[in-house]
Amino acid sequence: MHISEVLKKKHPAISFEFFPPKTEASSTDLFQTIQHLVPLKPAYVSVTYGAGGSTRELTHDLVVKLQRETSLTIVSHLTCVGSTQDEIYQILKKYDESGIQNIMALRGDPPKTQKQFVPVPNGFPYSADLVAFIKKHFPNMGIGTAGFPEGHPDTPNRLTEIENLKRKVDAGADYICTQLFFDNRDFYDFCERCEIAGIHVPIIAGIMPITSRKGMLRMAELALGARFPAKLLQAMTRADSDDHAEKVGIHWATEQVMDLIHNNVKGIHLYTLNKSKATLHIYDALGIQTFDTLQKQD
Ligand code: FAD
Repeated sequence: MHISEVLKKKHPAISFEFFPPKTEASSTDLFQTIQHLVPLKPAYVSVTYGAGGSTRELTHDLVVKLQRETSLTIVSHLTCVGSTQDEIYQILKKYDESGIQNIMALRGDPPKTQKQFVPVPNGFPYSADLVAFIKKHFPNMGIGTAGFPEGHPDTPNRLTEIENLKRKVDAGADYICTQLFFDNRDFYDFCERCEIAGIHVPIIAGIMPITSRKGMLRMAELALGARFPAKLLQAMTRADSDDHAEKVGIHWATEQVMDLIHNNVKGIHLYTLNKSKATLHIYDALGIQTFDTLQKQD
């Protein structure tokens, strides 16, 4: 099913993100996590594409395995990093032949050795070009694109940035999924700015529960933006153990999710980091057993 169809429901679609495991042991852990999360009936799950295009095969293998062995709706991430148009075509063809109907089309970040993103010869400079390519060659594929409520550092001009986002939607993206954020006001403001710019596709809110102080520092390094509100930082500083820090992080994410649902968000994408605990806690705290519970209220 296309994600655009999933997003037509009146109540929010809750989805989960996984990354492809690199070892046997982490693969076993991931499938245990999936077993715990499948009963929550997510609207869809997505599988990331390693930074620098590093997990091309692993992403493909996990996506195809999930497609074959579960009833989940799958979104495969794909970036422009390190791939020519021909290579991208071959990757998309394989997905198409495996029955994958949804691609999250991204530019990707440059490999650690490069400061700026440089497209390979005959590759794509921007994700809008990838979106247009998918639309042209695989018109039946559903396409998602990335949005940045706190802004993307490559384009400090926020007006230009929204114009660039609109290019991706005009090229054929069906929906936007955002980078993680910790202050819902950033998300609501982003949605309003999209509306003003004439971007009317559904916007899914990306939420990542902090599960440790170390994880928070890593987020600050990796995620673009990740503005930590003082109230959250204060609570994390007060936490006297990793266990408490995790409780604070999950509580914060739960409050964010509750507020987003209250404000009729179209979708919430939970960055699970391949663990089930935070997601299960959030569902529990919200009093929802499954995605269907929300859908029944339509
Ligand atoms: P683009 O839309 O191409 O934008 C990149 C920059 O270029 C922006 O600053 C934009 O404003 C600017 N720009 C766009 N068009 C133009 C133009 N025509 N002229 C001038 N400037 C322009 N990374 C991975 O490696 N693997 C993943 O699986 C992955 N999943 C992600 C999922 C989500 C939901 C999000 C939000 C991000 C994800 N990322 C992933 C990170 C993402 O690839 C990086 O943040 C990347 O730097 C931007 O990707 P983009 O698709 O938004 O790029």
